[in-house]
This record gives sequence, C-alpha cells and structure tokens, in this order.
Amino acid sequence: MKFKYNRVLVTGGCGFIGSHYIEALLNTFTNVEVINLDLCTYAVSKKNIRLLDSLPNYELIKGSICDDSLVKKTLKNFEPDLVVNFAAESHVDNSINDPSIFLETNVLGTVNLINNLVFSDNKNLKETIFHQISTDEVFGDTDIHSKDLFNEESPMKPSSPYSASKASADHMIKSWHRTFSLNYIITNCGNNFGPRQHFEKLIPTIILNALKQEKVPIYGNGKNIRDWIYVKDHAETLINVQNSGLMNDAFLIGVRNEQSNIKLAKDILNLIYPSKPYEELIQYVDDRLGHDFRYALDNSKLEKKLNKKLSNNFEKEIKDTISWYKNNLNWWE
Ligand code: NAD
Repeated sequence: MKFKYNRVLVTGGCGFIGSHYIEALLNTFTNVEVINLDLCTYAVSKKNIRLLDSLPNYELIKGSICDDSLVKKTLKNFEPDLVVNFAAESHVDNSINDPSIFLETNVLGTVNLINNLVFSDNKNLKETIFHQISTDEVFGDTDIHSKDLFNEESPMKPSSPYSASKASADHMIKSWHRTFSLNYIITNCGNNFGPRQHFEKLIPTIILNALKQEKVPIYGNGKNIRDWIYVKDHAETLINVQNSGLMNDAFLIGVRNEQSNIKLAKDILNLIYPSKPYEELIQYVDDRLGHDFRYALDNSKLEKKLNKKLSNNFEKEIKDTISWYKNNLNWWE
C-alpha cells in the first residue's frame, strides 16, 4: 500500500502521540521516509527513542523547532512533502506554573516552521502540506447539559496558557494560509490515552499510583468531563486524513467517549483492584486553576469527509493500557 506522501518531517515525534504516529506510518507503508526533529525534552523516555530507532526509513534529528537555522537546513536537505507538527509543551498544569515556554515552543516554534515553508526559495517547499496536531481545548469548555458539541465553527475560547498557545498556533496557520498560501491541515483532537503516555497525565497517574498503592489525586469534585480517544485510533485517523488528500481545512477528531474523571478513576481502579472500594484509593485535591469543565466533540465533518465512522472500544483499550503500564513500570527510568 502506498502513502500519499514520500518524505514526512515529523516534529516532536519522540513524544506520546508522535511516536505512535511514526510507528503506525512506517509499519504500514514502505514508500515513506520520516525525519523526526525533536528536542527530546523531559517528556521523552529513552525507550521511546530506542523503539523508534529500530524502525525502517527513520532518522532522528535532535533539536528545536524554534531553531531557525536547523529548521532551514533540515527542510532544505530533506525537502518534505508533508510536515506533521506534534512538537509542543503539552501539560496544562506546567503551563499554569510557567507559561513562557508554552508561548516559545507552541506559538513561536510553529511560526518558525510555517515561515520556513512559505518564505522558502525552494518552490517545492512552498507547496509542502503543514499538518498541525491541535487540541479540542482551544474551544474552552461547555456545560454538562449542553447539546451543542464543539464543531469546526465553534469560537475559540481557550482557558489555560496551554490551550491559548495552541489556539494561537491554529490562528497563525489559518492566517498564513490566507496571506501566504500555506497548505495546511489542522486536526483538533480530544484527550488521548494509551501506552507510553507520560506519567504526569491523568490516566497514567491513576494507573501508576494504584499500582504503587498510593492514593490517586482527583481535582475538585471529579465531575469534569473529557472526550477520550485511544492514541492508536488517533494515529490511524491522522494517517487517513493525510492519505485522503484533505487540506486547507480543520477537522475535529473524537470518538464520542465522554467520561467524568471520577468515573474514569473508578473504572480503572475497579479493574486493578476488583475487591477494594475505589473510594478508599482516591483523594480529592484542590481544583486546577481555570479548570475546563467539559470537552465534547462533534466529529461529523470528518466522518463525512472520510466516509467512515470514528468509533472506540474503550473497555478493551483501557485494559490494554493498564496491562502496558503493569509490564513497563520502568519505561521512564
Ligand atoms: P508529549 O509531551 O508526549 O510530546 C511532545 C513532544 O514534543 C516531545 O517529543 C518533546 O520532546 C517535543 N518537543 C517539545 N518542545 C520541542 C521543541 N522546541 N522542538 C522540538 N520538539 C519539541 O505530547 P503529546 O501528548 O504526544 O502531544 C503531541 C501533540 O498533540 C501536542 O502538540 C499536543 O498539543 C497535541 N495534543 C495532545 C493531546 C493529548 O491528549 N495528549 C490531545 C490533543 C492534542
């Protein structure tokens, strides 16, 4: 099977979602080469780097998307026909503690990438498609009773420095399309879970604290709702979007799997310790500042374009995720 693009520059591909995307892409298609430009921040496990190194047609360049001369050189030498930008600071709590690096990487880093495409002397690079991996958090939150799910026309109302930085990048890309003819795809996805996610995030925290017999912290009253997607389903959808030739448009990616944090914790704890009441294993902690209440995605535009239902198999996927963490307790050492 042939992939539509031959040379893909991935940025931030050593992280959680990027590593699943590269793995799926290179294990499915033989006609594609990947260069992964990644700063390998704290968010990257050495084991992710080794796992990717074993893939065919793959090369890692360690460096930052903010480094103008490195980005220029990499684009010039590789001449990618597709750039997929996963590179970001991705943890909302960190953005609340120190927003500046979020502006640097998520906004200025993205602008550096798109500037180097549209202002290139190379005619091919001007045609390169830039795919931004964005989030549903750019739309802010909605309330529990609202029937109005987020869609591609929803106003951006970000609540945290993280989501504001991602919303800014989305705006930059759309305006670079209008003003400088950048070819782009933006996909805004819900919360991902699955193997290899950093332990700072919610589902790994629930699983790892439970396995270490430590209390699981739950923000506020635990009623906040997220729309969860398995990372491998997200990676497959990204590949389908790219391979279908869609461009110069934005699409929401979700699988209609809304769950409150407390229900999620309860279900995971019941799977790990079936005979213990989950209430004994959790501890409510002070709520996150500005905590979004509910994310809820309408994926119908993308389903129509791909002519495919985006579905989930949450019960199996969460069991697989728990098993992965049980078998890889030293992944981050
Ligand atoms: P992650 O933190 O696991 O990975 C981020 C990657 O970016 C890491 O490999 C890191 O080293 C790299 N990076 C950071 N700064 C860089 C820089 N200056 N130059 C080059 N590389 C740099 O994050 P993730 O969960 O895999 O998220 C990937 C992307 O998907 C992000 O853009 C995030 O906003 C978006 N997203 C994530 C989720 C989610 O639930 N995790 C949901 C929707 C969208």
